[in-house]
Amino acid sequence: MTMQAIHDAINADADGDTIASLPLPDTMRAAVIRKSEVDMFEGMTSRDKDPRQSLHIDDVPLPPLGANEVLIAPMASAINFNTVWTSIFEPLPTFGFLERFAREGELGARHDLDYHIVGSDAAGVVLRVGQGVTRWQPGDRVTVHCNYVDLEGPEGHEDSMLDPTQRIWGFETNFGALADVAMVKANQLMPMPTHLSWEEAASLGLVMATSYRMLVGQNEARMKQGDVVLIWGATGGLGGFATQFVLNGGGIPVCVVSSPEKVALLEELGVEHIIDRKAEGYSFWTDNGEPDYAEYRRFGGRIRELVGEDPDIVFEHPGRATFGASVFVAKKGGTIVTCASTSGFQHSYDNRYLWMNLKDILGSHFANYNEAWAANRLVAKGMIHPILSRTYPLEDVGEAAHQVHHNLHTGKIGILVGASEEGMGIRDHELRARHADDIDHWKHLQ
Ligand code: NDP
Repeated sequence: MTMQAIHDAINADADGDTIASLPLPDTMRAAVIRKSEVDMFEGMTSRDKDPRQSLHIDDVPLPPLGANEVLIAPMASAINFNTVWTSIFEPLPTFGFLERFAREGELGARHDLDYHIVGSDAAGVVLRVGQGVTRWQPGDRVTVHCNYVDLEGPEGHEDSMLDPTQRIWGFETNFGALADVAMVKANQLMPMPTHLSWEEAASLGLVMATSYRMLVGQNEARMKQGDVVLIWGATGGLGGFATQFVLNGGGIPVCVVSSPEKVALLEELGVEHIIDRKAEGYSFWTDNGEPDYAEYRRFGGRIRELVGEDPDIVFEHPGRATFGASVFVAKKGGTIVTCASTSGFQHSYDNRYLWMNLKDILGSHFANYNEAWAANRLVAKGMIHPILSRTYPLEDVGEAAHQVHHNLHTGKIGILVGASEEGMGIRDHELRARHADDIDHWKHLQ
């Protein structure tokens, strides 16, 4: 039996019994990085490390299936920045995560291989369920969120992101989404929104749920109606959803981007306050590595000029390059919520502006099942939309990761895995027609 027969059955809308009865092949295509190559970029700058050289499509055995686990056939996936980090082996090779997982016991040891199958987003179909899985069955169409967690101990029962064994699937675990068959925990599955194609549904998970937790959920900044929210990278993966959540929740987004095309895209979405950081030429660091307060003030002044107030919330992820400015411009009593450090992990900010103005810095990371499910529900109801701009076949995963690495993309880049072309998998054509303009909006910016 080949994967083609399984994909044909899925495309023909075969029922669950048929899907369950189709034998699985012994091997499959998978996008991997190889342990033997972790030193391949030694001595090179981050910029020069090229995912096109380190990401391979190899033929590998199918993932194992244990209790409470599910094998799915991803029809599509998407590129996240974590696949960039994995493929350039920064800050450390992800094989270290797999080795640490192996030290926890037998189940973890299955992940410790000399290849790492990457990918943290998927939309696809359930092929097999392990012992103890009752909520899902073969044939179910699902999207996947990447919070991989057991909850065996007490620590994560109020918020699973606090569990000491919490991992990001396809980054800190093996058997990720960029393969013909992927292995997930049953508690990673969510129903696939019926008006979306495979690649659109697959592009939601990681960045959407992360933004939801940072801004909307009960755990972090908890945006209110009327809050002014400064959003860095407002047409990137995280920022594209942050912008929608702010608009949808009655906040006032102030969006920062780096080109006139991105400004135009946001204007068409109804965003009033937009800053083109490149055109403005902000430089928050002097040549000798000191913060440039004049530039902080110029940036804050521009925000006041646009919206008449300082931001209640700053949505942070660029990190070192912007963090000092983010702390400076936040309103007295405001919040800086951060989940990343793309430009550098060592941040510095002037603490006088934090304590004297009673500001808070909140650290946030992905999302729990409830938060991911709540965000997915907003999509299913047509209130939040995918931000997919471009899609590549699995064979071109290296090129897709290269684009994200060099900020050459807008929104999300999708990857077709089982789907042979774009646009497949839509079931509710009426709902689709109602939201087609919003969904296709992002595809205009190639
Ligand atoms: P994207 O590359 O899709 O978007 C990031 C955006 O940030 C870009 O579009 C760019 O916008 C802007 N940007 C990049 N560098 C700078 C800079 N030096 N100064 C100002 N703006 C900058 O990435 P994602 O949104 O998917 O992810 C962003 C980061 O968040 C990554 O580091 C990722 O690993 C991390 N992340 C963390 C998560 C977590 O759970 N902790 C979850 C998801 C992502 P423009 O050029 O238009 O200004």
